Amino acid sequence: MKINLAKSAGFCFGVKRAIDIALKTASDSGRVYMLGDIVHNEDVVKEIRKAGIKRINRLGSGKNKVLLIRAHGISQANLKKAHKVGYKIIDATCPMVRQIHRIAKKMEKKCRKIIVIGDKKHDEVLGIVGQLREKALIIESLRCLPAGLIKKIKKACVIVQSTQDIEKVLKIVAVLKKNIPDLQFFNTICMPTRMKQEEIRRIPQVNDLMLIIGSKNSANTKRLYQISKRLNKRSYWINSPEDLARRWFKGIKSVGITAGASTPESSIKKVINYIKRITKK
Ligand code: SF4
Repeated sequence: MKINLAKSAGFCFGVKRAIDIALKTASDSGRVYMLGDIVHNEDVVKEIRKAGIKRINRLGSGKNKVLLIRAHGISQANLKKAHKVGYKIIDATCPMVRQIHRIAKKMEKKCRKIIVIGDKKHDEVLGIVGQLREKALIIESLRCLPAGLIKKIKKACVIVQSTQDIEKVLKIVAVLKKNIPDLQFFNTICMPTRMKQEEIRRIPQVNDLMLIIGSKNSANTKRLYQISKRLNKRSYWINSPEDLARRWFKGIKSVGITAGASTPESSIKKVINYIKRITKK
């Protein structure tokens, strides 16, 4: 049986960079804190905790402490507060997320209403809207499009959470264009996500079985799974070899594998080694 691993499987550049910065900061400075988990992956979170970095939910006193900003970025309000309470800041915001911040701020200065296509509760989206003076409009899906509100907007700028599905985004943008006379659209889906989406639209069609590796709380893994499932009914979302069932491999000639941006290489290797073991004749 052939195993076809997607080139883009696993850590994206931004997550890898943030983890490297986190581990280096932990070895250089003693007390390192982070607002929330570094990524949505249990193994990576464990590794970060082992390195001595503590997860916090809100900003207490920051005296003699370092606050590490994750790849998702942070709102201006939280950043100001962190400075005020005394944290030394180490910023691991992904450069591609920072670019979205820059576009949002620049377009707001040009008096455009900022519309973000993304998940309302996702930290990256909260970080983006948290750069702005005015309240941005967040659209999660075509179903949730506030038609009445949109009709009143004359001039807007649309930006996108870096890991959104381009097909869904283009459908939303098409509706917005029909309703907003002056609309500027920036496709801010990042390059690693575009590569992942390009592969996930191809690989499930040329393999008998598809495995998508990643934590159940990883939004980008979920999106990969959903696209894959639409193209290949035999698509499974797993987190580790324990989630695999031997019967999935009966009569299978090829298995395609990809993994979310927060899935470490070690998890991918474990799954591949396990498949090789159980399918060995
Ligand atoms: S998914 Fe894209 S924007 Fe987000 S951290 Fe990775 S590279 Fe950066």
